Amino acid sequence: MTEAGNTRTRRLIEAVAATIIEHTGELTELDSAIGDGDHGQNMKRGMTAILDDLDAIAAKPLPEALKAAGTQLVMKVGGASGPLYGTLFMALGKEIAPDPTRDDLTHAFAAAIEAVKVRGKSDAGQKTMLDVLVPVCEALRNGGSAREIDEAAEKARDATRDMQAQKGRASFLRERSIGHIDPGARSSQLMIAAVIDVLGE
Ligand code: ADP
Ligand code: MG
Ligand code: MG
Repeated sequence: MTEAGNTRTRRLIEAVAATIIEHTGELTELDSAIGDGDHGQNMKRGMTAILDDLDAIAAKPLPEALKAAGTQLVMKVGGASGPLYGTLFMALGKEIAPDPTRDDLTHAFAAAIEAVKVRGKSDAGQKTMLDVLVPVCEALRNGGSAREIDEAAEKARDATRDMQAQKGRASFLRERSIGHIDPGARSSQLMIAAVIDVLGE
C-alpha cells in the first residue's frame, strides 16, 4: 500500500464517519417517523467502531480496508441496516481494485448493490437505501461529474419522501410511510456526499 493510498483511505473513513456522527439526531428523527427511531444510534455505533480501529483499517490496501469496515458495520450496527451496509462495504472490498479507476469503481459499486439486493430481498423503488445507491451508480456509469453525482443522490433521497415503503419496518405503516424521507436513503446520501468531497474529481 502506498503512503498516498493509505492517507486517502484514512480521509475517506474519517469523512464518512464524521458526517454520520454529525447527523445522528437527524437520522434518528427520520427513523422515529417511520421506523423505531434507532437508525442514528445504530450508524453512529458502527462508525465509532470503525474510527476506534482506524489505524489498523487505514493501513490495509483499499479492498481489505473496505472489508474490515464492512465487518465492523455487521458486528456493531445491528438492525436491518447493519447487515445491509456491511454487505455493501464487504462486497465493494471484494470487487474493487487496490487503486481503482472510475470504471473499476463503477463495476465494484454495481456488484456491491446487487449483493445488497440479494441480502435485503429488495430492489429500487421500495423506499430504502437502494433508492439512493442505484441512481448514484447510474450517474457514475453515465460519466456524471462529482457535482452531478452529488445532486443525483440528493434528488434520489428527496424522492423517497413520496414513496410507500415496501421493505423494512416502515413497510408496516403502509400508506402512512408516505411523506417522510427514508432514513437509510439519507444515510446513504450523506456517505456518498462525504466520499465525493474527499475524492473530488
Ligand atoms: P431497523 O429498521 O432494523 O431498526 P435501521 O433503522 O438501522 O434498522 O435501518 C433502517 C433502514 O434500513 C431503512 O430506512 C432502509 O433504508 C433500510 N432497509 C430496511 N430493510 C431493507 C431492505 N430489505 N433492503 C434495503 N434496505 C433496507
Ligand atoms: Mg430503525
Ligand atoms: Mg431497530
